[in-house]
Amino acid sequence: MTDSVPPFWSPRIAALEPYVPGEQPRIPGLVKLNTNENPYPPSPRALQAIARAAQEGLERYPDPASAALREAVCRRHALRPGEVFVGNGSDEVLAHAFFAFFQQPGQALLFPDVTYSFYKVYAQLYGIEPALMPVDAGLGIDVDALAARAAQGCAGIVVANPNAPTGIGLPLAAIERLLAAAPQRVVLVDEAYVDFGGESAVPLIARHPNLLVVHTLSKSRSLAGLRVGYAMGQAPLVEALDRVKNSFNSYPLDRLAEAGAIGALDDEAYFEHTRREVMDTREGLVLQLEDLGFDVLPSQANFLFARHPQHDAGELAAGLRARAVLVRHFRQPRIDAWLRISIGTRDQCGLLVQRLQEILA
Ligand SMILES: *Cc1c(COP(=O)(O)O)cnc(C)c1O
Repeated sequence: MTDSVPPFWSPRIAALEPYVPGEQPRIPGLVKLNTNENPYPPSPRALQAIARAAQEGLERYPDPASAALREAVCRRHALRPGEVFVGNGSDEVLAHAFFAFFQQPGQALLFPDVTYSFYKVYAQLYGIEPALMPVDAGLGIDVDALAARAAQGCAGIVVANPNAPTGIGLPLAAIERLLAAAPQRVVLVDEAYVDFGGESAVPLIARHPNLLVVHTLSKSRSLAGLRVGYAMGQAPLVEALDRVKNSFNSYPLDRLAEAGAIGALDDEAYFEHTRREVMDTREGLVLQLEDLGFDVLPSQANFLFARHPQHDAGELAAGLRARAVLVRHFRQPRIDAWLRISIGTRDQCGLLVQRLQEILA
């Protein structure tokens, strides 16, 4: 960056440190295990629905409320109409939630110091003061510390469950403790990875007016390229999100995205099959990495967080990249000895293990 800020920029823009997503390079034969995408294609029903939607009506604006998609989410999670909000990827849903609930003057938003790095970016974008709560020695979320800090007053709490990039899940009892510690504030539970073995907080919504649960179709539904996410909570929370959305973009979901998302959500059999494949492959990969000498955190997600006691993680990632295998390495305090490895197909994971054997030999 240059020292002088262009004169046209608002002051806050100059201070922003935007999120940096994992790379999406075009390398032939690449084994891409760096952005937690699903290795399997989307449900054929999603693809058919998109093809149908492309044939009819693209000259018209989509439904601004995406009512049919909200109904599909209600069906899937046994919620009432008015308890679902949908957006252009869950990142957008998260951004609207930060704007709607966490701008509480003089109070800090609590989230773990090791978690999805977009939370810090949204806090900065909206001028929210973050209070980073240290994870414990095993990189688990310190629920006692969070609850104690929340009880002194806060702007809200955000946890990813299972957490990223560790993959560690919290039990529902922990979520309930957080909800009780901040009854006047929203507790946002980002369940981007919950379908790979986590415990969903959705059944708590009926009893907790301050609970907002966010899901995405990017991971367990293989639709990262379509950009669909949603939030679930009691009607007053959803109304607040709708107020933000309707002050920002009337049509966040296009016709293809809405049709594809409904097709995917309604294909229970395909969903069950692919998420089981991912979970089974994960358990096999844990054992293989441990055989190679890695420490692997217990994961309830579609990725593993692993470190090798004798090898620098940055060098391992570079060695893999030179062999056309991409994994994610975060140059951040506390986690720079670790690699985050997305679960691919069995063949892709087999190739990863082969390449690691070459590098470690
Ligand atoms: C991938 C991810 C998201 C973003 O999902 P999109 O719906 O693709 O925007 C949100 N939260 C966490 C923790 C994620 O890992």
